[in-house]
Amino acid sequence: MSKEILDFQKMLDVNIPIIFIHNHDFVRVDEMISEAIGRNVAIREWNSAVGTVDFKNKEPIMRQSLENFLIEIYAPDSTYGKDRIVVLKEIQDLIDQPQIKSLLMMIAQRRLYDHGIQDEDIPPYSTTIVIVSSVDHIPEELIPYVSYLEQTYPDEAEINQLIDAHIKINKDQGFDEKDRKALLQSLKGLTSFEIDRTLDMAMSENGNLRASDTKMILAQKKQMVKKSGLLEFVETPETIESIGGLDYLKDYLKGKSQVMKEIIRAKEYAVRVPKGIFIVGMPGCGKSLCAKATAALFKAPLLKMDMGSMMGKYVGESEGRLRSAIKLAEAAAPCILWIDEIEKAFNGVGGESSEVITRMFGYFLSWLQEKTSNVYVVATANNAENLPPELKRKGRFDEIFCVNLPKDNEREAIFKVHLEKKQRNAESKVIIPKKEELSKLNSYTRGFNGADIESVVDETLENLFIELLHSNRGSIEITIDKLREQAQKTISISASCKNQIKNMEKIFGESSFIDATTGKQTLKN
Ligand code: ATP
Repeated sequence: MSKEILDFQKMLDVNIPIIFIHNHDFVRVDEMISEAIGRNVAIREWNSAVGTVDFKNKEPIMRQSLENFLIEIYAPDSTYGKDRIVVLKEIQDLIDQPQIKSLLMMIAQRRLYDHGIQDEDIPPYSTTIVIVSSVDHIPEELIPYVSYLEQTYPDEAEINQLIDAHIKINKDQGFDEKDRKALLQSLKGLTSFEIDRTLDMAMSENGNLRASDTKMILAQKKQMVKKSGLLEFVETPETIESIGGLDYLKDYLKGKSQVMKEIIRAKEYAVRVPKGIFIVGMPGCGKSLCAKATAALFKAPLLKMDMGSMMGKYVGESEGRLRSAIKLAEAAAPCILWIDEIEKAFNGVGGESSEVITRMFGYFLSWLQEKTSNVYVVATANNAENLPPELKRKGRFDEIFCVNLPKDNEREAIFKVHLEKKQRNAESKVIIPKKEELSKLNSYTRGFNGADIESVVDETLENLFIELLHSNRGSIEITIDKLREQAQKTISISASCKNQIKNMEKIFGESSFIDATTGKQTLKN
């Protein structure tokens, strides 16, 4: 039985009046509640969309306000008073209303102190309120009556127990111990209830559990994590070879990947667990690409955190979301936690409108500072102008890298990457220029970023394809001349955002970042 179910049952046993479940996935929560309480207990549900509904089949019963519903629940002589479980879904917009707060408090107090009218015909008042909400918010006055059903993520030993339990129940005698590692890894980052369900699904297909089931498990996990709204699993074909240039950073990451892959041995030798890197730089120059390639290099899943989606409108909600997201990443470790556009979230630190941001920032930094888990953080930012100094201090990120517009040899390398990609994907229907010829494009592509170069390749190929449609040729030859023609027509980032680029170059020159190409300090003088 999963830990959530056991925790839930324990809360019922000790007469917790209000149980709060912070979860977006109502179907899973319903399954969990049904399994936890068994068949004999009546459940009533009120949700903000329909009103009172049948908990089992979700048929609407009555379009009733939450206030009226709670008055009925509170009434000692009402039939509803006998119900053990009352599920309230998505009431975050109503819970701060004084009458709703009072009613919930009164029901909670009755549950705690008043065991009903002392009459043989009327059973003791034993209603437990279960609030299920996608938003983590409880008014202060209700906090003494509320227990949180925490989403806990089992550790390796617990996941192994769940795997063993499923093998036993399903009498899977052919289970191969060699498959355990892959299965274990794929199940990390799911709650025990979700693992239970996922293993049921894997088993139901053919009655056994094999490493080949990890594909289905990972697909399930991807969906479940996405639904949580905290993080997103990013699957990407990019590898370290997809990056043209940035040689120093690529070598740096190759070194770190060796440590992360051997982290247990590294700890035996007192090697510090790598924390992660912060990459600032020009737009379209490969910051995101580096985050994706890091995951491939480390052979670890990539979890993307969107700081914008962390922000909530209720007191404590944003901090709660950040904490939950970090907890989830730690449960999924080893993994890469990619925090994109970190500057957007933390720009307001220290400002007056930003008490919440400052608290979140503080939490994030102390987590990063004390982190011992195998979560490698890759934070990326375009705008390095107003970055809080704490973010740049040693002890937080291992290193701060700066990605500049690509130099001549780097642009050649980026052309090579994208041209070869086209050739690979077209099964030799596309002929590309020789590597040595690419330097002929240098003088036409100064000030281009990686995205500009990619678009030159894309556009050239598209034009050549249109020509092919009007010919009887079977293949396309991308020549240097064609690429040059296209480059001359392209308005590069340096031309379209002249001032912005100049300003960024100035900031990089005033900051002590590490140049991702050369490994030298960017600080001039
Ligand atoms: P932004 O700050 O705008 O999000 P970014 O620095 O994260 O940009 P990416 O998303 O990594 O940029 O790159 C944009 C596109 O340009 C990608 O499709 C990528 O393939 C290509 N590109 C950029 N830099 C490089 C590079 N160094 N090597 C190969 N391709 C690159």
